[in-house]
Amino acid sequence: MSSFNQIFIGLCLIVISLSLFQDKNDPKTIKPTVPKECVECIAQIEAVVAGEPIRFNLLKSLISKSYDEDKIERLILSLINMPEFNHKQKGVLISQLADIYKSRYHFYKAMTLLSKYESSYPEFSSKIKGINSQFESWQSERNTNLGYRSGRGNGTTGHMKGKVNVVYVHISDRKSKNKLWNTQLINRNKGNLSSVKDWLLQQAHLYNVSNFDINFHIHAVALHKGITSKWFRTQGFEFYFKSVFAKDIGFENSQQMLKHYSNNGRNEVAFVFHLNYSERSWAYRCGAETGYCNFLEFAMITEKPEDKYTPQVIAHEILHLFGSPDLYLIPYAKHFATTDVMNYYSSDLKWSAISPVTAWVIGWSEEHGKVPFKIIR
Ligand SMILES: [Zn+2]
Repeated sequence: MSSFNQIFIGLCLIVISLSLFQDKNDPKTIKPTVPKECVECIAQIEAVVAGEPIRFNLLKSLISKSYDEDKIERLILSLINMPEFNHKQKGVLISQLADIYKSRYHFYKAMTLLSKYESSYPEFSSKIKGINSQFESWQSERNTNLGYRSGRGNGTTGHMKGKVNVVYVHISDRKSKNKLWNTQLINRNKGNLSSVKDWLLQQAHLYNVSNFDINFHIHAVALHKGITSKWFRTQGFEFYFKSVFAKDIGFENSQQMLKHYSNNGRNEVAFVFHLNYSERSWAYRCGAETGYCNFLEFAMITEKPEDKYTPQVIAHEILHLFGSPDLYLIPYAKHFATTDVMNYYSSDLKWSAISPVTAWVIGWSEEHGKVPFKIIR
Protein backbone atom coordinates (compact mmCIF):
# COMPACT_ATOMS: atom_id res chain seq x y z
CA MET A 1 0.00 0.00 0.00
CA SER A 2 0.98 3.58 -0.27
CA SER A 3 3.74 4.85 1.85
CA PHE A 4 1.62 7.97 2.09
CA ASN A 5 4.22 10.45 1.14
CA GLN A 6 3.02 13.91 1.53
CA ILE A 7 4.29 15.43 -1.59
CA PHE A 8 2.11 18.00 -3.08
CA ILE A 9 2.45 19.93 -6.20
CA GLY A 10 0.55 23.01 -7.12
CA LEU A 11 -2.50 23.58 -9.18
CA CYS A 12 -5.46 25.72 -8.88
CA LEU A 13 -8.27 23.42 -9.48
CA ILE A 14 -10.12 25.18 -11.79
CA VAL A 15 -13.74 25.00 -11.41
CA ILE A 16 -15.11 26.39 -14.50
CA SER A 17 -18.51 27.17 -15.54
CA LEU A 18 -19.53 26.23 -18.97
CA SER A 19 -22.74 24.41 -19.21
CA LEU A 20 -21.79 21.97 -21.89
CA PHE A 21 -21.89 18.96 -19.67
CA GLN A 22 -24.91 19.48 -17.51
CA ASP A 23 -25.64 16.26 -15.76
CA LYS A 24 -29.21 15.30 -15.37
CA ASN A 25 -28.62 12.52 -12.91
CA ASP A 26 -28.67 13.43 -9.26
CA PRO A 27 -27.01 11.04 -6.89
CA LYS A 28 -29.30 8.14 -6.38
CA THR A 29 -29.96 6.17 -3.29
CA ILE A 30 -28.35 2.85 -3.94
CA LYS A 31 -29.01 -0.21 -1.87
CA PRO A 32 -25.88 -2.25 -1.62
CA THR A 33 -26.06 -5.93 -2.13
CA VAL A 34 -25.29 -7.90 0.97
CA PRO A 35 -24.91 -11.58 0.13
CA LYS A 36 -28.24 -13.29 0.60
CA GLU A 37 -26.97 -16.23 2.60
CA CYS A 38 -25.46 -13.89 5.16
CA VAL A 39 -28.75 -12.13 5.75
CA GLU A 40 -30.39 -15.54 6.12
CA CYS A 41 -27.80 -16.90 8.50
CA ILE A 42 -28.13 -13.93 10.84
CA ALA A 43 -31.91 -14.33 10.75
CA GLN A 44 -31.63 -18.01 11.56
CA ILE A 45 -29.29 -17.47 14.46
CA GLU A 46 -31.56 -14.74 15.76
CA ALA A 47 -34.41 -17.27 15.64
CA VAL A 48 -32.26 -19.67 17.63
CA VAL A 49 -31.58 -17.01 20.22
CA ALA A 50 -35.30 -16.29 20.33
CA GLY A 51 -35.97 -19.86 21.44
CA GLU A 52 -36.04 -22.24 18.52
CA PRO A 53 -34.28 -25.56 19.10
CA ILE A 54 -30.57 -25.23 18.80
CA ARG A 55 -28.81 -27.48 16.36
CA PHE A 56 -25.13 -27.50 16.89
CA ASN A 57 -24.13 -28.46 13.36
CA LEU A 58 -26.47 -25.94 11.79
CA LEU A 59 -25.01 -23.28 14.00
CA LYS A 60 -21.51 -24.25 12.98
CA SER A 61 -22.37 -23.94 9.32
CA LEU A 62 -24.13 -20.61 9.85
CA ILE A 63 -21.11 -19.15 11.60
CA SER A 64 -18.98 -19.98 8.60
CA LYS A 65 -21.20 -17.82 6.39
CA SER A 66 -21.42 -14.89 8.73
CA TYR A 67 -21.04 -11.51 7.17
CA ASP A 68 -21.64 -8.98 9.92
CA GLU A 69 -18.90 -10.07 12.25
CA ASP A 70 -19.82 -7.96 15.23
CA LYS A 71 -23.41 -9.07 15.11
CA ILE A 72 -22.54 -12.72 14.70
CA GLU A 73 -20.11 -12.51 17.59
CA ARG A 74 -22.74 -11.00 19.87
CA LEU A 75 -25.19 -13.70 18.83
CA ILE A 76 -22.73 -16.54 19.29
CA LEU A 77 -21.62 -15.25 22.67
CA SER A 78 -25.20 -15.00 23.83
CA LEU A 79 -25.86 -18.52 22.52
CA ILE A 80 -22.96 -20.14 24.29
CA ASN A 81 -24.28 -18.94 27.60
CA MET A 82 -27.34 -21.08 27.04
CA PRO A 83 -27.49 -24.44 28.80
CA GLU A 84 -28.09 -26.43 25.59
CA PHE A 85 -24.38 -26.59 24.88
CA ASN A 86 -21.83 -28.48 26.89
CA HIS A 87 -18.41 -27.11 27.70
CA LYS A 88 -16.73 -28.85 24.79
CA GLN A 89 -19.29 -27.65 22.24
CA LYS A 90 -18.98 -24.09 23.47
CA GLY A 91 -15.23 -24.35 23.01
CA VAL A 92 -15.76 -25.57 19.44
CA LEU A 93 -18.00 -22.61 18.60
CA ILE A 94 -15.60 -20.06 20.04
CA SER A 95 -12.69 -21.70 18.31
CA GLN A 96 -14.61 -21.79 15.03
CA LEU A 97 -15.45 -18.13 15.24
CA ALA A 98 -11.77 -17.39 15.93
CA ASP A 99 -10.81 -19.49 12.90
CA ILE A 100 -13.14 -17.42 10.74
CA TYR A 101 -11.54 -14.21 11.98
CA LYS A 102 -8.14 -15.71 11.32
CA SER A 103 -9.10 -16.83 7.80
CA ARG A 104 -10.16 -13.24 7.11
CA TYR A 105 -6.81 -12.03 8.54
CA HIS A 106 -8.62 -10.42 11.43
CA PHE A 107 -5.90 -11.63 13.73
CA TYR A 108 -6.46 -9.20 16.55
CA LYS A 109 -10.15 -10.04 16.76
CA ALA A 110 -9.31 -13.75 16.84
CA MET A 111 -6.80 -13.25 19.64
CA THR A 112 -9.11 -11.04 21.66
CA LEU A 113 -11.91 -13.59 21.42
CA LEU A 114 -9.74 -16.55 22.38
CA SER A 115 -8.05 -14.66 25.21
CA LYS A 116 -11.43 -13.90 26.73
CA TYR A 117 -12.06 -17.64 27.16
CA GLU A 118 -8.49 -18.79 27.71
CA SER A 119 -8.93 -19.43 31.43
CA SER A 120 -11.75 -21.93 30.71
CA TYR A 121 -10.03 -23.37 27.64
CA PRO A 122 -6.26 -23.60 28.28
CA GLU A 123 -5.89 -25.27 24.87
CA PHE A 124 -6.52 -21.84 23.29
CA SER A 125 -3.10 -20.61 24.50
CA SER A 126 -1.05 -22.19 21.74
CA LYS A 127 -3.55 -20.97 19.14
CA ILE A 128 -3.29 -17.41 20.48
CA LYS A 129 0.49 -17.63 20.30
CA GLY A 130 0.41 -18.72 16.67
CA ILE A 131 -2.00 -15.97 15.66
CA ASN A 132 0.00 -13.38 17.58
CA SER A 133 3.15 -14.15 15.65
CA GLN A 134 1.25 -13.50 12.39
CA PHE A 135 -0.17 -10.31 13.85
CA GLU A 136 3.26 -9.09 14.92
CA SER A 137 4.75 -9.84 11.51
CA TRP A 138 2.42 -7.20 10.06
CA GLN A 139 3.75 -4.37 12.20
CA SER A 140 6.95 -3.59 10.32
CA GLU A 141 5.97 -0.02 9.42
CA ARG A 142 4.17 0.96 12.55
CA ASN A 143 6.71 3.40 13.89
CA THR A 144 7.05 6.00 11.28
CA ASN A 145 4.14 8.31 11.75
CA LEU A 146 2.91 9.27 15.17
CA GLY A 147 -0.09 11.40 14.35
CA TYR A 148 -3.28 11.07 12.35
CA ARG A 149 -3.02 13.79 9.75
CA SER A 150 -6.57 14.34 8.68
CA GLY A 151 -7.22 15.61 5.19
CA ARG A 152 -10.95 15.89 5.81
CA GLY A 153 -12.45 17.96 3.01
CA ASN A 154 -9.01 19.14 1.88
CA GLY A 155 -7.61 19.21 -1.59
CA THR A 156 -9.11 18.76 -5.00
CA THR A 157 -11.06 15.69 -3.91
CA GLY A 158 -13.36 16.61 -1.03
CA HIS A 159 -15.92 14.45 0.76
CA MET A 160 -16.93 11.04 -0.52
CA LYS A 161 -20.53 12.04 -0.95
CA GLY A 162 -23.01 12.74 -3.67
CA LYS A 163 -21.98 11.66 -7.10
CA VAL A 164 -18.32 10.69 -7.28
CA ASN A 165 -16.63 10.23 -10.62
CA VAL A 166 -13.37 8.34 -10.61
CA VAL A 167 -11.31 8.96 -13.71
CA TYR A 168 -9.47 5.66 -13.84
CA VAL A 169 -6.66 5.58 -16.36
CA HIS A 170 -4.66 2.49 -17.23
CA ILE A 171 -1.24 3.77 -18.19
CA SER A 172 1.23 1.71 -20.15
CA ASP A 173 4.89 2.52 -19.75
CA ARG A 174 6.76 0.77 -22.55
CA LYS A 175 9.92 0.85 -20.48
CA SER A 176 8.35 -1.38 -17.88
CA LYS A 177 9.17 -5.06 -17.96
CA ASN A 178 5.56 -5.84 -17.17
CA LYS A 179 2.93 -6.41 -19.82
CA LEU A 180 1.33 -3.37 -21.38
CA TRP A 181 -2.35 -2.93 -20.67
CA ASN A 182 -4.48 -4.89 -23.10
CA THR A 183 -8.19 -5.59 -23.32
CA GLN A 184 -7.92 -8.77 -21.30
CA LEU A 185 -6.01 -7.14 -18.45
CA ILE A 186 -8.29 -4.11 -18.41
CA ASN A 187 -11.33 -6.37 -18.28
CA ARG A 188 -9.80 -8.20 -15.39
CA ASN A 189 -9.25 -4.93 -13.61
CA LYS A 190 -12.83 -3.90 -14.28
CA GLY A 191 -13.79 -6.81 -12.03
CA ASN A 192 -11.66 -5.27 -9.28
CA LEU A 193 -13.30 -1.89 -9.75
CA SER A 194 -16.72 -3.42 -9.58
CA SER A 195 -15.80 -5.05 -6.24
CA VAL A 196 -14.52 -1.71 -4.96
CA LYS A 197 -17.73 0.02 -5.98
CA ASP A 198 -19.95 -2.60 -4.34
CA TRP A 199 -17.89 -2.52 -1.19
CA LEU A 200 -17.92 1.28 -0.91
CA LEU A 201 -21.68 1.42 -1.42
CA GLN A 202 -22.19 -1.28 1.17
CA GLN A 203 -19.92 0.51 3.66
CA ALA A 204 -21.71 3.83 3.01
CA HIS A 205 -24.98 2.10 3.72
CA LEU A 206 -23.66 1.05 7.15
CA TYR A 207 -23.15 4.75 7.91
CA ASN A 208 -26.57 5.70 6.53
CA VAL A 209 -25.01 7.69 3.73
CA SER A 210 -27.79 7.57 1.22
CA ASN A 211 -26.86 10.12 -1.40
CA PHE A 212 -23.63 8.51 -2.49
CA ASP A 213 -22.82 6.93 -5.79
CA ILE A 214 -19.46 6.23 -7.35
CA ASN A 215 -18.65 5.49 -10.96
CA PHE A 216 -15.41 4.56 -12.62
CA HIS A 217 -14.69 6.14 -15.99
CA ILE A 218 -12.17 3.85 -17.55
CA HIS A 219 -9.47 4.91 -19.97
CA ALA A 220 -6.21 3.54 -21.29
CA VAL A 221 -3.22 5.51 -22.51
CA ALA A 222 0.43 4.87 -23.27
CA LEU A 223 3.11 7.21 -22.04
CA HIS A 224 4.59 9.32 -24.79
CA LYS A 225 8.22 9.04 -25.71
CA GLY A 226 10.37 10.88 -23.24
CA ILE A 227 7.82 10.69 -20.44
CA THR A 228 8.49 8.05 -17.85
CA SER A 229 6.68 6.65 -14.85
CA LYS A 230 9.05 8.64 -12.67
CA TRP A 231 7.37 11.85 -13.86
CA PHE A 232 4.41 11.09 -11.67
CA ARG A 233 6.60 11.68 -8.64
CA THR A 234 7.76 15.06 -9.84
CA GLN A 235 6.40 18.42 -10.84
CA GLY A 236 6.76 17.21 -14.41
CA PHE A 237 3.44 15.57 -13.81
CA GLU A 238 1.70 18.92 -13.75
CA PHE A 239 2.98 19.67 -17.23
CA TYR A 240 2.05 16.20 -18.41
CA PHE A 241 -1.41 16.40 -16.92
CA LYS A 242 -2.21 19.81 -18.34
CA SER A 243 -0.62 19.43 -21.75
CA VAL A 244 -0.80 15.83 -22.81
CA PHE A 245 -2.87 13.66 -20.60
CA ALA A 246 -6.30 15.20 -21.17
CA LYS A 247 -5.85 15.01 -24.93
CA ASP A 248 -4.83 11.39 -24.65
CA ILE A 249 -8.11 10.50 -23.05
CA GLY A 250 -10.17 12.48 -25.51
CA PHE A 251 -10.53 16.02 -24.19
CA GLU A 252 -9.31 19.29 -25.59
CA ASN A 253 -7.50 20.17 -22.42
CA SER A 254 -7.41 19.44 -18.69
CA GLN A 255 -9.92 22.17 -17.87
CA GLN A 256 -12.48 20.70 -20.19
CA MET A 257 -11.84 17.25 -18.71
CA LEU A 258 -12.28 18.47 -15.13
CA LYS A 259 -15.37 20.42 -16.04
CA HIS A 260 -16.87 17.37 -17.65
CA TYR A 261 -16.23 14.93 -14.83
CA SER A 262 -17.13 17.38 -12.08
CA ASN A 263 -20.24 18.46 -13.94
CA ASN A 264 -19.21 22.07 -13.46
CA GLY A 265 -18.16 21.55 -9.88
CA ARG A 266 -21.24 19.65 -8.74
CA ASN A 267 -19.60 16.24 -8.46
CA GLU A 268 -16.47 15.04 -6.78
CA VAL A 269 -13.75 13.87 -9.13
CA ALA A 270 -10.96 11.52 -8.16
CA PHE A 271 -8.06 10.62 -10.40
CA VAL A 272 -6.62 7.15 -10.20
CA PHE A 273 -3.83 5.97 -12.47
CA HIS A 274 -2.94 2.34 -12.82
CA LEU A 275 0.53 1.76 -14.11
CA ASN A 276 2.00 -1.43 -15.57
CA TYR A 277 5.02 -0.91 -13.38
CA SER A 278 6.25 -2.75 -10.33
CA GLU A 279 6.41 -0.32 -7.50
CA ARG A 280 4.47 0.37 -4.41
CA SER A 281 1.12 2.07 -4.88
CA TRP A 282 0.85 5.54 -3.48
CA ALA A 283 -1.27 8.68 -3.42
CA TYR A 284 -0.62 12.38 -3.52
CA ARG A 285 -3.11 13.63 -1.05
CA CYS A 286 -3.70 16.72 0.98
CA GLY A 287 -3.11 16.06 4.62
CA ALA A 288 -3.43 18.46 7.48
CA GLU A 289 -1.01 20.91 5.88
CA THR A 290 -3.11 22.37 3.14
CA GLY A 291 -0.37 24.85 2.28
CA TYR A 292 1.38 22.16 0.27
CA CYS A 293 -1.72 21.18 -1.43
CA ASN A 294 -2.37 23.14 -4.53
CA PHE A 295 -2.16 20.66 -7.32
CA LEU A 296 -4.24 17.66 -8.13
CA GLU A 297 -4.74 14.81 -5.71
CA PHE A 298 -4.29 11.51 -7.46
CA ALA A 299 -3.54 7.91 -6.68
CA MET A 300 -1.12 5.64 -8.46
CA ILE A 301 -1.85 1.94 -8.43
CA THR A 302 0.95 -0.40 -9.43
CA GLU A 303 -0.47 -3.78 -8.42
CA LYS A 304 -1.16 -6.29 -11.13
CA PRO A 305 -4.88 -6.70 -11.78
CA GLU A 306 -4.74 -10.39 -10.90
CA ASP A 307 -3.04 -9.87 -7.53
CA LYS A 308 -5.03 -10.86 -4.50
CA TYR A 309 -4.81 -7.52 -2.73
CA THR A 310 -5.44 -5.27 -5.73
CA PRO A 311 -9.09 -4.42 -4.86
CA GLN A 312 -8.03 -3.49 -1.33
CA VAL A 313 -5.15 -1.38 -2.58
CA ILE A 314 -7.47 0.47 -4.97
CA ALA A 315 -10.00 1.09 -2.19
CA HIS A 316 -7.24 2.19 0.20
CA GLU A 317 -5.73 4.67 -2.25
CA ILE A 318 -9.10 6.11 -3.19
CA LEU A 319 -9.84 6.70 0.49
CA HIS A 320 -6.55 8.63 0.70
CA LEU A 321 -7.83 11.01 -1.96
CA PHE A 322 -10.87 11.74 0.17
CA GLY A 323 -8.71 12.73 3.12
CA SER A 324 -7.94 9.51 4.89
CA PRO A 325 -4.45 9.00 6.31
CA ASP A 326 -2.80 5.65 6.82
CA LEU A 327 -3.57 3.98 10.10
CA TYR A 328 -0.96 1.28 9.59
CA LEU A 329 1.88 3.70 10.30
CA ILE A 330 0.51 4.88 13.62
CA PRO A 331 1.86 3.01 16.66
CA TYR A 332 -1.25 3.77 18.74
CA ALA A 333 -3.48 2.28 16.06
CA LYS A 334 -1.97 -1.18 16.37
CA HIS A 335 -4.94 -2.47 18.37
CA PHE A 336 -7.45 -0.01 16.97
CA ALA A 337 -9.77 -0.33 13.96
CA THR A 338 -8.00 -3.57 13.11
CA THR A 339 -10.24 -4.43 10.18
CA ASP A 340 -10.08 -0.95 8.65
CA VAL A 341 -8.67 -1.01 5.12
CA MET A 342 -6.39 1.91 6.07
CA ASN A 343 -4.84 -0.21 8.82
CA TYR A 344 -4.65 -3.90 7.89
CA TYR A 345 -5.23 -6.13 4.93
CA SER A 346 -8.06 -8.59 5.12
CA SER A 347 -8.04 -11.79 3.09
CA ASP A 348 -10.56 -10.18 0.75
CA LEU A 349 -11.92 -6.65 0.33
CA LYS A 350 -15.39 -7.82 1.36
CA TRP A 351 -14.07 -8.51 4.88
CA SER A 352 -12.45 -5.09 5.17
CA ALA A 353 -14.18 -2.28 7.00
CA ILE A 354 -14.33 1.47 7.11
CA SER A 355 -14.04 2.30 10.79
CA PRO A 356 -15.74 5.35 12.32
CA VAL A 357 -12.62 7.51 12.17
CA THR A 358 -12.15 6.77 8.46
CA ALA A 359 -15.87 7.37 7.89
CA TRP A 360 -15.51 10.72 9.62
CA VAL A 361 -12.44 11.77 7.68
CA ILE A 362 -14.04 11.04 4.29
CA GLY A 363 -17.15 12.98 5.29
CA TRP A 364 -19.56 10.15 6.03
CA SER A 365 -20.16 11.22 9.60
CA GLU A 366 -19.70 14.22 11.85
CA GLU A 367 -18.16 12.25 14.74
CA HIS A 368 -14.89 10.36 14.64
CA GLY A 369 -15.52 8.56 17.89
CA LYS A 370 -12.87 7.80 20.45
CA VAL A 371 -9.40 7.40 18.98
CA PRO A 372 -6.15 6.38 20.68
CA PHE A 373 -4.05 9.00 18.88
CA LYS A 374 -3.96 12.70 18.23
CA ILE A 375 -5.85 13.97 15.20
CA ILE A 376 -3.94 16.69 13.39
CA ARG A 377 -6.25 18.86 11.35
ZN1 LIG B 1 -1.81 4.34 2.34
